[in-house]
Amino acid sequence: MSKRNNLVVYNTLSREKEKFVPVNDPFVGMYVCGPTVYSDVHLGNARTFVSFDLIYRYLLHLGYKVRYVRNITDAGHLEGDRDEGDDKFSKKAKLEKLEPMEIVQRYTLGFHEVLRQFNTLPPSIEPTATGHICEQIEMIKTIIENGYAYEVNGTVYFDVNKFSKEYDYTILTNRKLEDLFENTRELSGQDEKKGRLDFALWIKAKPEHLMRWPSPWSWGFPGWHIECSAMSSKYLGDYFDIHGGGMDLAATHHTNEIAQAQAFCRTQPAKYWMHTNMLTVNGTRMSKSAGNGFLPQELFSGEHPLLNKGYSPMTVRFFMLQAHYRSTLDFSNDALEAAERGFKRLLNAISLLDKIIPSENAEPLDLKEREEKCYAAMDDDFNSPLLIAELFEFVRLINTIHDGKEAINKEDFDELKELMNVFVYSVLGLKDDSIAADDNVEDLMKIIINIRDEAKKNKNYAASDRIREELNAIGIQLKDSRDETLWNKI
Ligand code: AMP
Ligand code: ZN
Repeated sequence: MSKRNNLVVYNTLSREKEKFVPVNDPFVGMYVCGPTVYSDVHLGNARTFVSFDLIYRYLLHLGYKVRYVRNITDAGHLEGDRDEGDDKFSKKAKLEKLEPMEIVQRYTLGFHEVLRQFNTLPPSIEPTATGHICEQIEMIKTIIENGYAYEVNGTVYFDVNKFSKEYDYTILTNRKLEDLFENTRELSGQDEKKGRLDFALWIKAKPEHLMRWPSPWSWGFPGWHIECSAMSSKYLGDYFDIHGGGMDLAATHHTNEIAQAQAFCRTQPAKYWMHTNMLTVNGTRMSKSAGNGFLPQELFSGEHPLLNKGYSPMTVRFFMLQAHYRSTLDFSNDALEAAERGFKRLLNAISLLDKIIPSENAEPLDLKEREEKCYAAMDDDFNSPLLIAELFEFVRLINTIHDGKEAINKEDFDELKELMNVFVYSVLGLKDDSIAADDNVEDLMKIIINIRDEAKKNKNYAASDRIREELNAIGIQLKDSRDETLWNKI
């Protein structure tokens, strides 16, 4: 039986776990809403992209041919959710005296660098909103022709009232339309829109607005939601498999995307809607506006008032993967320290594999059963914490074999090595980023040990002790024997 047949995913749309059956097996189209590149990504944003990296990696591992589209929002994102406030790019550009596209370039590069450090795989296509203005205009034209949008003074609004007469506007979140209506600000005399839930598809640019394009309605710019509808349908078709993003996007951005797609071509765009939960700090969602955002760099260097020390990118990735993508994950020093210890144990077990010599007559182990458990964990809606718990069973086994308390035959040994490689490196996307994994470290250590030997020869024991202690503090232990000094990771 193919490994592909057992995957079950939680669908926000049905609020249930469903068997994963792609629209066009073995091809899978996956669209994930990318970052708005007017500022640095914080650790919360990174968590969402690491979660989708896990999903992408596992789908690839199962043999699906995935087209993973993750956009870059580089226009059309106003400060308020309801088409109010300044355009974030123009505001930042004026503040920093830069071109809006310089802002876009700077933060796109920063975003790529963060995701590289977290060892995420690049998407198949990374389209930008500004690169797809024509597609957005064409889509808006059709929505107007179909009767679900109207123009007022050069701005085009989606008509939620009209749409709701035929479709379920709140299908994704199951909220009551009346409640939503009650909780939305009343229209004032200055409002152009007809209904309070209506949202902009195209916005006429004010004179001071920097980013603007010509359209049949005005010189202006697209609303935020239409970019994802236009780019997902262009690259994945009108009905594709997975549409994802953080949970905070479901209520407005994804709700509006579904409405736009139905108004455009009568079909709901994606079969499975997947949402990742939030990274929190002391229980509050990490966000740019709340001002509680950590930059990944601050976490790596430890230069932040809330941190005791720095953590390597792979330790942070491991920390993230220890929580299920649909659970909140609260940031704390203690949790990171625990993750660091756990990750070291895992890596240490893998390095012990190089020292184990299989024995010919060892009884077979129950590795097939354990392998099945690893697959069962990931098949159950990408349950990475459960997979990690299973991997620690392997860690225990490796340690027991290394200590000589159990033996392993060659066939099982090869299998065990392969399983660790597959699940730790390919599926979880981890790698050894400790200093000892760096190619230069062997050479550097030779240099340090030679300098220390010279210090000892010159009876400068203070210097030689200091070198040993400082290496110890960064996790490197020196072992002096009669002929030479050896080193290892602690
Ligand atoms: P933005 O750049 O604000 O558009 O956000 C990019 C992605 O990060 C979106 O999918 C958001 O839902 C997600 N996101 C924002 N804040 C958090 C958080 N605290 N934890 C996890 N994901 C988040
Ligand atoms: Zn989007």
